[in-house]
Formats: sequence, structure tokens, C-alpha cells
Amino acid sequence: MDRLEQKIINCIEQHRDEIITIGRDIFTHAEMGYKEYRTAQIVADRLRQLGIEPQTGLAVTGVKGYLKPRCSGPIVALVGELDALPIPAHPDANPETGASHCCGHNAQIAGLLGAAIALTDPEIAQALDGNIAFMAAPAEEFVDTEFKVGLIQKGTIRYCGGKSELIRIGAFDDIDIAVGHHISPNLPGYQLANGTSNGFVNKVVTFHGKSAHAAGSPHTGVDALNAAMLALHAIDLQRETFRDADSVRIHSFMPRAGTAINVIAEETCIESSVRGKNIPAMQDASRKYDRAIRAGAIGLGCTAEIVTVPGYLPTVPLDDPGLLTGVLQDLSAEGQTRGYHYPVDYCNADSHTAGSTDFGEVSSILPLYQFNTGGYTGELHNSNVRVTDEQLAYVETAKIFALTAYRLLKNQAEAAKKVLAGFHPTLTREEYFAFMEENDRTEVYPPASER
Ligand SMILES: [Zn+2]
Ligand SMILES: [Zn+2]
Repeated sequence: MDRLEQKIINCIEQHRDEIITIGRDIFTHAEMGYKEYRTAQIVADRLRQLGIEPQTGLAVTGVKGYLKPRCSGPIVALVGELDALPIPAHPDANPETGASHCCGHNAQIAGLLGAAIALTDPEIAQALDGNIAFMAAPAEEFVDTEFKVGLIQKGTIRYCGGKSELIRIGAFDDIDIAVGHHISPNLPGYQLANGTSNGFVNKVVTFHGKSAHAAGSPHTGVDALNAAMLALHAIDLQRETFRDADSVRIHSFMPRAGTAINVIAEETCIESSVRGKNIPAMQDASRKYDRAIRAGAIGLGCTAEIVTVPGYLPTVPLDDPGLLTGVLQDLSAEGQTRGYHYPVDYCNADSHTAGSTDFGEVSSILPLYQFNTGGYTGELHNSNVRVTDEQLAYVETAKIFALTAYRLLKNQAEAAKKVLAGFHPTLTREEYFAFMEENDRTEVYPPASER
């Protein structure tokens, strides 16, 4: 640790109580995606107090503030997520909306603001040969979709994912490198999070048949429930074609499946997520899914409307996450001198989760460092999530954010420049937009000409 790194740590320790207060306050005032007005206000207000005039209302509620008004050199974005989940059973759930921080995003915002407190120290800011963007991103959780689809129909947003939307409006255009955090319940310390995750598209399928008396005259009806069953079976029969390495997941539910026992179902609906570890695998599974739906429709004489909604992209790990590894190891050692015992754990590129995050989009277009911290118990997305170590959850998160940015940008931004020189994006921004457009479509099968 150099002198300024020590200064960063001391500064964050001095503001420990404030950082914890922010984490607690957001935890007990959870808000759902694209509705995080209060949380966004906390971010904007605190940045203003630090002398940063942020952009607000980005992708509805997003906030972005630069450490320096103007600056040459690389720009590192520290990204925290604003949103919560609809889990009203949590004791700290928002009593009006049922929103609760069962994914721990409150710790990201506490860490982000804690890092801003340290990095705005004039001596530290001066030592950075580049700029830092403090970014609070809305709507990471792919929930509350009816509300989000309403925003899309009104033209307020185009995509459900907050970071997808931030990319779309150009908020990442000037960003060279991003840093993201997530909590990991029951983790005793820090974790390098350089693994992979699935990407996905969602499907909303509606079969249209014809109602009839189910016992008296089924021959005059067209059974949309049977079409859905045949389609789901055909989807299952595809599974042997999915390679283990591609980690394909297709999971569905039926929000509508007819109206009564003695009525042939006129309309049924299947909603599904189609996930895969890479874009070709997602595309392949998506094509097979659509084919299976068409089989159900043609087999029973229904029509099927297949709405494909773009979700998130697979997360691409960094070739060399060594800089972040160094931060975690050094901080762990430094913490020992303060009586903290936070070991470092490593989640490397060979570690895969079949779930998804819109950090996947970010990792596809620019280098992304990600880390986890513990400090919570329970399970993500479960009402049993509790904060048990605020130092680890909030204060250590702030240190890791700040130290990572500092190490990237100190000494003429030598480290950041090296990362950028070695980085090859999976997609250009244009290819990303093309991918999103291609997966934003509605098909009615069979087409009118073939009915
Ligand atoms: Zn989550
Ligand atoms: Zn999360």
C-alpha cells in the first residue's frame, strides 16, 4: 500500500459511521426498478455535497457524476445498483410496495458513496491521471415486468434492464473500464468475482384456439391448452441437443391456461426464460424454442403469438483480473492491523452461474472488474436475507471500489492503459444494439397466408 492508498483507507474509516448509515437507510427504504427516486436522490445529494454536480434521471432514475469536471485520460466507472425486489415477507420490506433489499444492492450504493468520499479528497483526486464516473444504475432485477413494459409502451425506456438502457442512451459511451460489486451472503470476507453468467431472452407466448363444450362438442373447438402442452413437450425433447458446456436453461410458467373444466381452452399463455452461457447458445435455444411453439400451434390448429423480449447478455470474465486480486489481498492484510479478519476468496473464469445480470452487457462492451463482499446471511432473493456485518458489507466495499479506481489511474493511468490495450470486446456497441433489436420481435404463427 502506498501512502495515498493508506490515506484512502483512513478516510473511509473516518467516515465509517456515515457509510453505514447510508447502507442502513437504503436497506430499510427499498424501491423497485425504475422507481428508485428516493435512493437516487440520496446518491445525487451526497455527490453534490462532495462538489460533484451529477446528471440525474438517466434511464428514469440513474445518476452519474464525474470526479473532475474535465480531464484527459481513461474514465473508470464505479457502478452501484439502486433497485430492490418484490419480497414483502422481509421484515424491512417497504410497507407500501413490498420492495426489499434481498439482493443487497443497498451495499453497492453505500460502497459507491463511501468511495466518492475518499476519492474527492483533493490530494487523491490530483494523483489520478484520468477521471472517475460515480454511477448509480436502475433496475437490475428482471421483475415487475408489467410496469416496465408499460414504460416501454410509453416510450420512456426501450429495454427492461437498467444497464441495457444506460448503454442505449449513451451513458457508457465515454466509460473505458467499469467496476461492479455484489454481496455474497455467508462469505467471510472478499471475493474476486471473475466468473461467467448466463445471458437470456424472455418469451411470452399466447396460443389462440376456439372454445367449445369440453364434453358435449369438443370437435367444434380448438384446444389452446393442448397446443401449449404439445409445445412444452417439444421444448423438453430439445434438451438432449443442448451441450453441457453451454449451460442452457429453459424455464416456464403458465399465467393463463383456459377458463373452466368444461370449456375447451380458447387462450393459453406460456412465459419462459431461455438462457445460455454464450450468444450462439442463446440464439440456438431461442430458435428451437420458437420451433417447438410452432409445432404446438400447427399440431392442434391454433395460432401462436411469440413475443421475444431481450434480457441480458452472458458475463464475459477479464483475461487478467490481477489488479483487483491485488487490491483484495492487500486490503485483507491491511485489515489485520485494524483487527479485521476478512479472507480473500477467488471466483475465476471457470466458475459459472446459470443466473443472469445486466453487468453481462457491460462486460461485453468494455473491461469490467467485479468483486463480492460478505456481511449478509440468508440466501439471495429470499426473505431470510439479513445484514450481519456492516463493516464488511458497506465500509470494505467502499475501500475496494476506491482502491481499484486509484490503482487503475495512478502513475499516468499505466494500469488502465494496459487493460485497455489488451481488451477485445465481445460486441461493439453497434453489434450490441443489433442483437437487442433482433431479439425484440413478435411472430404470429402460422402466418395469415397459411391459415
Ligand atoms: Zn438479484
Ligand atoms: Zn443483485
